[in-house]
Amino acid sequence: MSEKLRLVRQKIKSAKGLDVVLHTIVEQLSKLLDADACCLFLIDYAQDEYVLKAKYGLPSTAIGQIRFRLGEGLIGLISKRSEPLNLDDWQSLPEVASFSSDVMQGLHGFLGISIRYKCQPLGVLIFQRQAKQRFHEEQISWLITLTVQIATSIVAAQTNETLKDQKSIVLVGIPSSSGVGIGKAVVVYPRSNLRAVPDRAAKDIDAEIKSFKMALIETQEELQALSQRLAGRLSSEERELFSSYIQILASPSFYKEVVSLISKGKWAQWALCQVISQHVAEFEAISDPYLRERSADVEDLGRRVLFHLQSGARAVREYPKKTILVGEEVTAASLAEVPEGYLIGIVSVKGSTNSHVAILARALGVPAVMGVECMPITQIDFRTIIVDGYYGQVYLSPSSQICREFLTLSEEERELDKELSSLRDLPAETLDGYRLSLYVNTGLAGDIHRALSVGAEGVGLHRTEVPFMLRDRFPTEEEQRIIYRQLLKAFSPSSVVMRTLDVGGDKILPYLPIDEENPFLGWRGIRISLDQPNNFLTQVRALLRASEAFHNLHIMLPMISHVEQLDEAVALIQRAYQTVRETHPMVEFPKIGIMIEVPSAVYQITLLAERVDFISIGTNDLIQYLLAVDRNNGRVAKLYNCFHPAVLQALMQIVHACHQLKKKVSICGEMAGDPLAVILLMAIGFDILSVSASRLPRVKWVVRNFSMKKAELLLEQVLKMHSPRLIQQHLERALEAAGLGGLIRAGRS
Ligand code: PEP
Ligand code: MG
Repeated sequence: MSEKLRLVRQKIKSAKGLDVVLHTIVEQLSKLLDADACCLFLIDYAQDEYVLKAKYGLPSTAIGQIRFRLGEGLIGLISKRSEPLNLDDWQSLPEVASFSSDVMQGLHGFLGISIRYKCQPLGVLIFQRQAKQRFHEEQISWLITLTVQIATSIVAAQTNETLKDQKSIVLVGIPSSSGVGIGKAVVVYPRSNLRAVPDRAAKDIDAEIKSFKMALIETQEELQALSQRLAGRLSSEERELFSSYIQILASPSFYKEVVSLISKGKWAQWALCQVISQHVAEFEAISDPYLRERSADVEDLGRRVLFHLQSGARAVREYPKKTILVGEEVTAASLAEVPEGYLIGIVSVKGSTNSHVAILARALGVPAVMGVECMPITQIDFRTIIVDGYYGQVYLSPSSQICREFLTLSEEERELDKELSSLRDLPAETLDGYRLSLYVNTGLAGDIHRALSVGAEGVGLHRTEVPFMLRDRFPTEEEQRIIYRQLLKAFSPSSVVMRTLDVGGDKILPYLPIDEENPFLGWRGIRISLDQPNNFLTQVRALLRASEAFHNLHIMLPMISHVEQLDEAVALIQRAYQTVRETHPMVEFPKIGIMIEVPSAVYQITLLAERVDFISIGTNDLIQYLLAVDRNNGRVAKLYNCFHPAVLQALMQIVHACHQLKKKVSICGEMAGDPLAVILLMAIGFDILSVSASRLPRVKWVVRNFSMKKAELLLEQVLKMHSPRLIQQHLERALEAAGLGGLIRAGRS
């Protein structure tokens, strides 16, 4: 990136407050593009107008006063265009009539560009010159390069401003677990991350100052020790860095800056982060590359002090009765820390519908919205927020009227759940007598109780990785045996499908770090198990020993992409079985199955199915690999769609091949819990749908309210369609017509 661009970017990034951000944008861009004047219009959707919000080089123009109707005139024209409008004289256009001529007095050269945020028009930027001269191609490309950052900075500043005024604001993300929840935001943040620490009031100012002092001393000691340890390896000049770090920490001005913020009532962690980011921004704005790089040193120093501050802080967090976890990246471990029954919502900046946290949210029946970019996470700790998991919206500081509306909706949801609980002992049978089996997906400790309470007929997928993720080492064979036994016992004599460890991708074990460019195409699932057979054998032995008295164990292998992987894994299972039989002769050889999650397995389905007892389709991964859409990336979430015709064709092909071999086939991906998809899955002929306990009653409701004849007709119709969106809409209408609209949106009516 050119130095000029870098500096402009940096100045916009470090501007604070909406007015300053907008002013920095017009000023810096005018200088960058060599413009004599600039106007920034933002859209006021309440009034359907563009409003002048910032200007440069136009002394008599009144900010906030100049307004134009949405979609009209020159600004309307720019807003509609997908590329900039570059003219040597703006008066050459017929649309100028409605544009205020005093704004443009004496100016000719013209460049206009529309600013969008997530495809939604946000406003228009106009640059002008006195000369009758177009802007250069290079200048236009600079502007285009910066538009995403401009839009993000404006939205983030607008959000912060609205929040500061205690006004309500709605942020949009990706709907990831249905339901609505009203509660208090509890911000979760990774350790030593200077940008994630929430803005909190100090409970005890003196105690905060004391902890800050202590953290400073500990960091100095740490740096001294580090410097001494490296004495043999680094020269004294090279070790100078440590002395300069120590000097900064000992400098009275740094200490005073942090303490002054604490004295104003902020807790030490926030005060430290503010001071450090201010200094980092100052260094980053320097053009001398050597001095600029010192920003990384300041940041590193800040992280070290923060680490000590956080180590000294009380580890136990307080969770309100209605906790909504909010974070840059909410993790499975942070969910587990919330006391049972307190968690009522999840909001994450990163991630998407099929990230594993979203899957856990659905398992818990907790509404979740993922991919909420521009979420002011550091500003909302302990504020009231609403999560609408149907529409993917998050309401910050909601008005009392909005709160009342959502309370009514959540009450209606509770009533619906109560009604659905009466289906517990009824079969999943269509109106014309076609019977389907409904199994449950499990993983968390509380899932056993939830699964039994909804009348699941078996476990179709137990994700064994969850206890692995919550520990700081691999669980021993005996620890694993105890966990697996509980589930096998609770469901005996019904079948329990235990999936062998499936980590990698977005499921990382803290003690098995995998740092890869492309983790979803990397070392995950069966690939790790076969490369580390010891862990795999330990797990299989634990599973076999756990099954001794129950004989209901099914072992399922994830991420199979090659026939050899299956053969190799089966050989290992046989080896583990021989070992276990020596001491536990009553253990039976388990049924073995595989997950179809990779396109290559779809094309080799017959070869694979011949070798196993059952097949289960993991649509969460299969869809991401078929459509080449990262399941964890909010930016491409709208391309991730289970109704894509290619997905439907793949499912039909698998079911057909398995049935030819008289093998049972189930689906355990999240698609099976989607009421719209259930209609198609019935018609495709799946034997078993395996869904989370919280989804099961709703799935049963769909099955019991449809006839197979109607489902087959709908399948026939959608197979003629090419657009996932149209297929989805067609199914939505069918669900509404069957009186099941409450399954796809909040409330009953
Ligand atoms: C799947 O991929 O559909 C699946 C069930 O596995 P996971 O979501 O755990 O990757
Ligand atoms: Mg998977």
